[in-house]
Amino acid sequence: MLMPMSKRQLKFIVDSMLGDVARWLRMLGYDTLYFKDISDNQLISIAKRDGRILVTRDKTLFTKAKRKGLGVVYLGKAQDIIARLTTLYKYHSINLEIDPNRSRCPICNGILKHVEPWEVKGKVDNSIKERYSEFWLCTKCGKVYWKGTHWITIEKILLEVKRRIGVDREDLKEN
Ligand SMILES: [Zn+2]
Repeated sequence: MLMPMSKRQLKFIVDSMLGDVARWLRMLGYDTLYFKDISDNQLISIAKRDGRILVTRDKTLFTKAKRKGLGVVYLGKAQDIIARLTTLYKYHSINLEIDPNRSRCPICNGILKHVEPWEVKGKVDNSIKERYSEFWLCTKCGKVYWKGTHWITIEKILLEVKRRIGVDREDLKEN
């Protein structure tokens, strides 16, 4: 019998039409590759080489990957990020909580590290530094993250995904 894998051990490769999905999977903690310009054969060979789940909007690519026995998710019918995350959850029970301590950089897939406000001196505006006390730094590209106003949007999207799936009903009752 297979041992249950930690949800965050899943790895993905996302086709060039799904940049938003790549960013979200990284924020949710998944090692996710994304290239703006890549052929179907390259996507398939990287997925195979690394044991990555291929995520695509392309029906032909989906069929081709499936025939080769790869793990593949088809998102051709899912038009927005809520529908896309919901579908990914249905296939692979992806994690739906963002913990920045375990997130990947949405831009480069680098690992984030929690840093003290003095460590981001010169990297963010002083007004941001004064307003927020927690920061995360991408160890690869150097971009700094904090739970700014966009955080509310992120939480709302995840809440809507959970509502559609029907998980976390208890959380919803409290709101
Ligand atoms: Zn980065």
